[in-house]
Amino acid sequence: MWGHQHINRAAIFTLPEPLRSFYFRHADYITEESVVPDVRKYTMGDKAEFARHFIDMEDYHFSSDTFEMNPKKAYTQYDEKTRNELGILPWYILEMTQKLTEAFKNKEKAAILLLSGDLGHYIGDASMPLHTTSNHNGQKTGQQGIHAFWESQLPEIFGSTYQMNIGEANYIKDLEKNTRELILHTHSLADSVLLIDKILGLKFSKETAYQCDTNKNPLKNRYGNPIHSKAYAEAYHQASNHLIERQLQKAAYMLSCYWYTAWCNAGKPELNDLDSQSYIESCRENYTKEQLLWKTGKTIEIGNKKEF
Ligand SMILES: [Zn+2]
Repeated sequence: MWGHQHINRAAIFTLPEPLRSFYFRHADYITEESVVPDVRKYTMGDKAEFARHFIDMEDYHFSSDTFEMNPKKAYTQYDEKTRNELGILPWYILEMTQKLTEAFKNKEKAAILLLSGDLGHYIGDASMPLHTTSNHNGQKTGQQGIHAFWESQLPEIFGSTYQMNIGEANYIKDLEKNTRELILHTHSLADSVLLIDKILGLKFSKETAYQCDTNKNPLKNRYGNPIHSKAYAEAYHQASNHLIERQLQKAAYMLSCYWYTAWCNAGKPELNDLDSQSYIESCRENYTKEQLLWKTGKTIEIGNKKEF
């Protein structure tokens, strides 16, 4: 939750005007919508949702030239069973971007906001290395629990030190190429995510790597994930040299670029007439405040419930 909500919020301030003002007027919705695709998956049990959140790159046996990015072509190459097993994340990002472009063309405000929020979730997943490998929770290498530790426990502890402001969105000329590069780069980091944990595992015992009960068994959070010790989290944070922060920055920047590109490809429609003048006025004060805060690289504090 921490990552998804902060990515969506930060992406708003990465946009150029006039998009930035429009998205800001719906910032709370866009922030909250960032986690809805996971709700669809777990709470609503939507079977089709699962494959949208990951891609097991090694099991597709792609090289960078054979990694077909066009969703229609890829879906004829890989049948539904394969796609459900190995995931469709990059293709789904492209499908969503196309839908968002259509929503902009038709100036359908509800669809623009819903698709923008959801797209943020998938781009967030596409920036998380363990969403691009079949060893997604370290289960093949004796590192169970690494997934939630990396994407939830660490940002919950260190997120207040992260800088999210890395410049303004750019137009993406070739969305397929960009999406391929995004996934390949993310996937290239999976080994580091796991290796840092392996190396630290040599220095820490089970009792010092985890917060343990009186029987020396790791305590678990409400989702059943083992809770690492503060010392272990600190050691991982140091050894990874801002890796999580960099991936969050990149995700926010990329999301902003995809939103901006969809709007440009729709012919840059006027958006001010999608909100009433009085509503636009009522948002101004908070916008000014949050813009000032953004200049320091921060979003407002998002009062989500902690997972750890
Ligand atoms: Zn997800």
